[in-house]
Amino acid sequence: RQSVRRFATRAARAAGEGSTAYCNRVSTAQGVVNGLTEAIGNTPLIRLKKLSEQTGCNVLGKAEFQNPGGSVKDRAALFVVKNAEEKGLLKPGGTVVEGTAGNTGIGLAHVCRSKGYKLVIYMPNTQSQGKIDLLRLLGAEVYPVPAVAFDNPQNYNHQARRHAESLDNAVWTNQFDNVANRQAHIDTTGPEIWAQTEGKIDAFTCATGTGGTLAGTTRYLKTVSDGRVKSFLADPPGSVLHSFIQSGGTLIDRSGSSITEGIGQGRVTDNLQPDIDLLDGSVSISDEKTIEMVYRCLDEEGLYLGASSAMNVVAAKEVAEKLGKGNTVVTILCDGAYRYADRLFSSTWLESKNLLGSIPKHLQKYIVL
Ligand code: PMP
Repeated sequence: RQSVRRFATRAARAAGEGSTAYCNRVSTAQGVVNGLTEAIGNTPLIRLKKLSEQTGCNVLGKAEFQNPGGSVKDRAALFVVKNAEEKGLLKPGGTVVEGTAGNTGIGLAHVCRSKGYKLVIYMPNTQSQGKIDLLRLLGAEVYPVPAVAFDNPQNYNHQARRHAESLDNAVWTNQFDNVANRQAHIDTTGPEIWAQTEGKIDAFTCATGTGGTLAGTTRYLKTVSDGRVKSFLADPPGSVLHSFIQSGGTLIDRSGSSITEGIGQGRVTDNLQPDIDLLDGSVSISDEKTIEMVYRCLDEEGLYLGASSAMNVVAAKEVAEKLGKGNTVVTILCDGAYRYADRLFSSTWLESKNLLGSIPKHLQKYIVL
């Protein structure tokens, strides 16, 4: 534990200002934490035993499903609210308004309850009913709206912004372009990974929704390692970022769609923009590989993961194979399968997506719904 703390201190110094808070978190997290917000972060880094054995690498997954709201987005939720408070935009009794496909909303709902703020959520109506129900149960006012592109004024993000503008003492936290989101990962996710691996990490990879996790973690790991740690974007079909990166910023390929929820992007957000040039490359992952990995992680590791996590694990495996034996590759296990079980483990749903054939015979016993 001492060596983790020593690395955390060194890492905090490398991250510069604002990181002393992280050192305090490392020491207090061993004992009692003061309320829900301090229980966010400091998640375990799990060695995926079978995949590590298969690749001859250390393939490690950061267990973000252990956050109080059940996903990596708790970190961004806390940072955007704290940022609004610090800027004086949010005062006691105020309202937070956000556009979110679910996990940020759930994180915000926990944070807002714990801090006494009201929460209003706009989301595309393509998201699972389970997420909508949970948000309402956590006290949020939820508006599912038609899933239209960002350049349409009826897009859920613009509706959230207009709603906040119509209220006093309200803030649109704007997770896509509010860089307090990536700061969460510069200040917490990156330093935690560096400390947990004692600096012995060779590569990092994950998918992007807002880009906060990829950008912030990459920024921190590149800084602390003097550029030694490589970083790769993992991208699902239908997202434009893979083609954008592969072509050096010229090609925008919008073809395809994906079963993954919460990831894939049609533009370079303000969270990703400052760090996109730091990336060493990108990997495009098909739904066929993702769904197989959902089942493999369950069978081989006992990990019950959502599709974005499984896609990240496929990316980590591919990066490990590319770098060769002996490397340590870290990825993000964004959330669990709980909110998606009625889809991921349903034969009808798998068939409707033409994915039933992607589940190997010996794993089909998990298709129980
Ligand atoms: N996985 C899931 C399940 C998510 O909900 C999100 C966020 N929408 C992400 C991954 C991506 O995280 P980020 O917004 O930091 O890019």
